[in-house]
Amino acid sequence: MKKGIINRKLCICKNNLKYKINFGDLPLINNYKKKKNLHKYPTIITQCKKCLLIQLKYSISDKLLFPNNYSYLSGNSKEKINNFQSLVFKIKKISNQSKLQILDIGSNDGSFLELAKKSGIKVLGVEPTNTAKISINKNVNTIKKHLNLKLAKKILKKYSKFDFIVANNFFAQTNNLIEIIKSIKLILKKEGTLIIEVQYLYDLLYQKGFDSFHHEHIAYYTTSSILKLLKKYKIFIFDAERLKVHGGILRVYASLNKRPLTKNLKKMLKNENDKNIIKKIRHLNSFRIQFNDRIKSLFNHLKEKGKKIYAMGAAPRSCVLLNSSELSKNEISLIGEVPGSLKCNKYVPGTDIMVKNENKIIIDKPDYVIILAWHLKQRIIKLLKNKGYKGSFIIPLPKLKIIKK
Ligand SMILES: [Zn+2]
Repeated sequence: MKKGIINRKLCICKNNLKYKINFGDLPLINNYKKKKNLHKYPTIITQCKKCLLIQLKYSISDKLLFPNNYSYLSGNSKEKINNFQSLVFKIKKISNQSKLQILDIGSNDGSFLELAKKSGIKVLGVEPTNTAKISINKNVNTIKKHLNLKLAKKILKKYSKFDFIVANNFFAQTNNLIEIIKSIKLILKKEGTLIIEVQYLYDLLYQKGFDSFHHEHIAYYTTSSILKLLKKYKIFIFDAERLKVHGGILRVYASLNKRPLTKNLKKMLKNENDKNIIKKIRHLNSFRIQFNDRIKSLFNHLKEKGKKIYAMGAAPRSCVLLNSSELSKNEISLIGEVPGSLKCNKYVPGTDIMVKNENKIIIDKPDYVIILAWHLKQRIIKLLKNKGYKGSFIIPLPKLKIIKK
């Protein structure tokens, strides 16, 4: 086995895994470099026999997955900022105390905590990657480390226990979830609230989002599976919401005390059926393989006609789609990104396609722009049109289609 690959023999709940569905080999999706890097790793989806959690069979070590050149910045996504703002409002609404203390696990560039701090909340972020420096530069209280029991004990010494602990898109992304859960239990107030946001597996399936299956997502949650998992560690989910951002987010609220379940949570649990979800994942994988053929033949057709095609949005899912469909510079000349993105002038992992400032699309006037960050299609189309782009658009998912100029 390649260095850095972890063969996960058991689920986080310590029960056995069964089934193996092969989603193809993928590179590390945020490993943007000035040199091409074509290393890829197997992406095999499996399910826990007991808690039914969908997860990766082989994960990648945190050291490889979150290197110092980690290039995802929350602050570059307007959608994300709006979501963070809604979370701050929600926290203020839940708690009637004036003095609140929040811990953000995997706080990235500090975008969420910056907003929380502005509304008078005392904040602490924990973030191991270089993105922590951006947060520190913004004067957001941040520790540049991985959260583990050792750090949790240190935090406990310096701070009182936290009213809220927030984990945005973190629960799917760690090889050490058990230790994280234990750390949370150590530093969350008994009457405090843990708020977790993860991608919602049912939304991924509904939108044919095979491009969200990659190594940064070790687990793929439903309300039922996350509830069962946390319950094992005596953390109790009492409320849940579905958010229409990033192609579908599940936000759950949990506590160390048992609280009555909200109506909304009961309804969501009733609508889920994790027993047959593996079948749906098999279907999604078949769809992925057919999609690869369809997009290849579309590009061949357009290229035969001499069309120039650029892409827009070097989001994590873009990297998955390009690698899954084996698209290269022959088909897509470059990918546009927001000016200032750490990805600009670097190669999309696993490909020979470079990321450039999105203004290059306006200057070069390609015939087509494929919107790889398709969950933001309306915003991107509007942005490019406002800047003066007059060509056609290709939307890859959920249904491959062309919007003619
Ligand atoms: Zn399990």
